[in-house]
Amino acid sequence: MLASYSCGTWFRATDEGEPLLDASTGEEVARISSTGLDLAAMTTYAREVGGPALRALTFHERAAALKAMAKMLGEHKDDFYALSARTGATQRDSMVDIDGGIGTVFSIASKGTRELPNDVVVLDGQPERLGREGSFLGQHVYTSRPGVAVQINAFNFPVWGMLEKLAPAFLAGLPTIVKPASQTAYVTEAVVRRIVDSGLLPEGTLQLLCGSPAGLIDELGAQDSVAFTGSAATGAHLRQHPSVLHGGVQLGVEADSLNCSILGTDVGLDDPEFELFVKGVVTEMTVKAGQKCTAIRRVIVPAAMADDVVAAVSARLAKVTVGHPTSEGVRMGALASLAQRDEVRKAVQALRASSEIVFGNPDVVDVVNADAETGAFMSPVLLKAHPGASEPHDIEPFGPVATVITYDSLDDAIRLAARGQGSLAGSIVTHDPSVARTLALGLAPWHGRLLVLDRTSAAESTGHGSPLPVLVHGGPGRAGGGEELGGVRAVLHHMQRSAIQGSPDMLSAISGQWITGSSRTETDVHPFRKSLAELAVGDTISSATRTVTLDDIDHFAEFTGDTFYAHTDEAAAQQNPLFGGIVAHGYLVVSLAAGLFVDPDPGPVLANFGVDRLRFLTPVKAGDSIQVTLTVKQITPRTNADYGEVRWDATVVNGSGDPVATYDVLTLVAKQWPQEPSA
Ligand code: NDP
Repeated sequence: MLASYSCGTWFRATDEGEPLLDASTGEEVARISSTGLDLAAMTTYAREVGGPALRALTFHERAAALKAMAKMLGEHKDDFYALSARTGATQRDSMVDIDGGIGTVFSIASKGTRELPNDVVVLDGQPERLGREGSFLGQHVYTSRPGVAVQINAFNFPVWGMLEKLAPAFLAGLPTIVKPASQTAYVTEAVVRRIVDSGLLPEGTLQLLCGSPAGLIDELGAQDSVAFTGSAATGAHLRQHPSVLHGGVQLGVEADSLNCSILGTDVGLDDPEFELFVKGVVTEMTVKAGQKCTAIRRVIVPAAMADDVVAAVSARLAKVTVGHPTSEGVRMGALASLAQRDEVRKAVQALRASSEIVFGNPDVVDVVNADAETGAFMSPVLLKAHPGASEPHDIEPFGPVATVITYDSLDDAIRLAARGQGSLAGSIVTHDPSVARTLALGLAPWHGRLLVLDRTSAAESTGHGSPLPVLVHGGPGRAGGGEELGGVRAVLHHMQRSAIQGSPDMLSAISGQWITGSSRTETDVHPFRKSLAELAVGDTISSATRTVTLDDIDHFAEFTGDTFYAHTDEAAAQQNPLFGGIVAHGYLVVSLAAGLFVDPDPGPVLANFGVDRLRFLTPVKAGDSIQVTLTVKQITPRTNADYGEVRWDATVVNGSGDPVATYDVLTLVAKQWPQEPSA
């Protein structure tokens, strides 16, 4: 019996449960049941034990825990691969699930370290000035919800499905209850067991529910969320749940999707794009035996190319060996279960109302090292739609099945694509930029992600069907309307955005970052003499003033080669409507400002690694004086390094006090100074 991990212990139901069968052999792998599991206690435990432990950590500390977890899981991959094969997955399929899942955690963790502060609150955008004097501002912030994230996953990706949802929620400060699809839950259970045993995640931040979740959603409230991947029917059922309708539970749905791939009107039989298109279709039909929410179901091609496409796809499909997933030479394994195969056969039958089968037989397949009847094997099936067919736009065969549909103009292709009512992923195969633009702009409102494939991008392309951690995953309409992944977006989806209004000092105190208008601290010690441990947000140096001369401008023009007329030709510069005479280079102003604020001696400031948000606001003319104020805005110690990042607010003003340049200076500063001599 599979165990659930609940309230810090492993729980095993004592009833008979349901058997889970090996997809290829029909042998029992495990049994599953959640009878007796206290779901209310699990949600309370997550909120009261997991949540506070997680929110005591900064984003960087959470990211470090995730990274360590991903590393640890990588060391146990072989165990997961062995179990994954029992779901019908080949080595290549398992790689997508297992390595893909682990890679996603690494990616989300690394985004968390690089793009989130080493704090527990995220600022969204710049402060908004709400009064004339600047004493009343508004700042948008993201904070962690004191709730629990319930994640309900589909059977097709028992590892990736769990990890791609767990990592962003964890980073956002939300404890997770994972509910894997029963059919393949034994793979998820093995992964969760490793995570729990490792002790790398704080207790209570990850619980596992194997078996029926009946009653779980009833336990959720306004700070909780459900992320669901699976059928449109279950998605619709969840949308109607009273906790969602009336209880404020946030629900994200990722459901069926009739994804399309479109061959451009420019592509001929001899173009490399033709082969790329055909290969893409065959890959999507056969990886995971077509049980992928992003797989190509509709192959939309110019009418004149249909026969060539059918012939080329069929020729490739004929080479696909079906059989036991661990057998040599097998390209496509089994579907997840006999019940799934029945579903797919039914879908093919329904599609035949308006399409004809041009390759394969849904009821007959030759298999290697397995029994075609006791295992859930199925031949790839390609259909060709009759003109005006509607079924291919409505019915999702969740298996190795696709339908060729013809179009006669790009507008027609867009119209056909839209009949899918919203998809997760689409691809456009063309080498013509104007075809790409027309199709991409027509298709984008119906898609979460679009791949534009041609000879230039082919070598590095990640393919039609691969969701990527740095890009959004999810689609409008029928695809569920949810959005996951997309780098840091994935984390922010789980957090609450609020507008906070108050004085600059209050907003600085709340956000942990210096905000324009708040107090500055000036002492006799130059802030460049302070280590990271000694620096504080608000520490400031106000420089001396310097007069910018015509000689300075001439010298800078000649020295750098930037002899743009506004800096060198008085008569021409007079005609410039913005300047009305020679002005200093913006970069000269910034360089002179550095000369004014820098403390030159060796010290804790190790490097200047960039400038952000640089704006030149008022032109500087010969004879103007400038002065700069530099204030510590944000301090971000780096984990596993003996330095951290310091972001400084730099404001350069002229003799009248008007700002001439504003920007953020980015530096690396030693955590301790003098540094300990290295051993
Ligand atoms: P389901 O929607 O039945 O199951 C998805 C998940 O929801 C499973 O974890 C399931 O648990 C759970 N679930 C089922 N009923 C409820 C409920 N009332 N409340 C809460 N959770 C529930 O989809 P299947 O996995 O059975 O697949 C069926 C079809 O869904 C496929 O044929 C395909 O068309 C589509 N699908 C789409 C995917 C996508 O990524 N978009 C992925 C997989 C499938 P349990 O397994 O224990 O029933």
